Amino acid sequence: MKATEVLDDLRRRFPNEPEYLQAVEEVLTTIEDTYNEHPEFEKYNLIERLCIPDRIYSFRVSWVDDKGNVRNNMGYRIQHSNAIGPYKGGIRFHSSVNQSILKFLAFEQTFKNSLTTLAMGGAKGGSDFSPRGKSDMEVMRFCQAFIQELWRYIGADTDVPAGDIGVGGREVGYMYGMYKKMARENTGTFTGKGLEFGGSLIRPEATGYGNVYFLLNMLATKGIDIKDKRVAISGSGNVATYTAEKLLQLGAKVVSLSDSDGTVIIPDGITQEQLNFVFELKNIYRGRIKEFAEEYNLPYYPGERPWTKVQCDIALPSATQNELNGEEARALLAGGCFAVSEGANMPSTPEAIKEFLAAKILYAPGKAANAGGVSVSGLEMAQNSQKLSWSAAEVDEKLKSIMAEIHRQCTLFGKEADGYVNYVKGANVAGFMKVARAMMAQGIL
Ligand code: NDP
Repeated sequence: MKATEVLDDLRRRFPNEPEYLQAVEEVLTTIEDTYNEHPEFEKYNLIERLCIPDRIYSFRVSWVDDKGNVRNNMGYRIQHSNAIGPYKGGIRFHSSVNQSILKFLAFEQTFKNSLTTLAMGGAKGGSDFSPRGKSDMEVMRFCQAFIQELWRYIGADTDVPAGDIGVGGREVGYMYGMYKKMARENTGTFTGKGLEFGGSLIRPEATGYGNVYFLLNMLATKGIDIKDKRVAISGSGNVATYTAEKLLQLGAKVVSLSDSDGTVIIPDGITQEQLNFVFELKNIYRGRIKEFAEEYNLPYYPGERPWTKVQCDIALPSATQNELNGEEARALLAGGCFAVSEGANMPSTPEAIKEFLAAKILYAPGKAANAGGVSVSGLEMAQNSQKLSWSAAEVDEKLKSIMAEIHRQCTLFGKEADGYVNYVKGANVAGFMKVARAMMAQGIL
């Protein structure tokens, strides 16, 4: 089948999975020319096999809350492709989680992991359980119940989960603890673990730092210095806060943060003291960004996103999918924004992406720009296999060189006739070709 026919067929078969279809459409429309240059791919029906996950586990997770009530959530693991290495991808705990969202994330993860230069396939998992407002003990009991179902299907050389929205060091620790107990082995299997039990230095920082490194690579192509640039960030979780930390180190001005309740604007740029407050608020007290706004008397917009609320040179969406729409993209461009680099997965809607590409600004899709997280996860796996741990400086250097290599691949496959680099096309084609060649070599499975 031709790429467009596959897309039509998927639309017919999975009509209730809009996020999955959105992610597939974005990739298929950009790789079509490359795909058509390889008639052997069509003979092996490669596109269809690459779009449909290898398998999906879905299960009920029953647990008991602090009041003694029995609660039920859905749990999932999507093993999308292991063509180039063990399945690898995070676990998301959020009330919005469903099969469509996890299928889009696992599909994207496959191309992202291909770009990292490391041997990792693509997967994603999660639950519609929300850790928000739950006690530590409730979170622990839920994580344990989740793993009691999942542990059989994961392993250090088969499928290696990590964190994502709602899953940080605390949740990974609880899940890994139960995994070890059930599987009776201690070989890693999760990444994002605590430093005391096999975690890697720089893993918590990796996605945010990596996005900034990718941005620096893009800015360098135009000879632009990041210093004093006004940067709008959405979210205030793992990715957003470490992005802000690196930007502060580089002398840029972080002018916004947000959470699902609203946006705070920091007109003169966040200070180190303010950022420390946010780290504590989010990681220790598990509070809301509104409390940060109140503490420092900063403008706060309930229910709003940053993009129309503040002028910026650079936008780094770092919260969730479809959080930046066409209208907001136009507002960013009108305000002089010249670079967008995605910390989150698929944060820009198709209409927003069209605006960025038409304006020919520097625009990096998440699968390239936020690949630093899974890259350092791959480095954590390497350290676990060797029973060694590397220094922070060593991991950070490797992260920088991986992000530079991803940038090089995007440029190689994404440069257009007029010299503009279409990073969407570059990332999709580079990621696709490696997986496609591996699939061709291994036969029909
Ligand atoms: P966290 O849970 O640490 O933080 C998520 C942040 O986004 C929070 O501020 C959260 O607000 C906000 N958010 C979540 N859902 C929504 C929503 N529906 N609307 C508005 N705001 C929302 O997650 P991460 O920082 O780890 O992940 C952020 C993004 O980065 C995700 O797209 C994730 O897939 C992607 N990513 C993460 C990687 C990692 O290593 N962690 C690696 C690569 C990509 P609230 O607290 O109110 O929910």
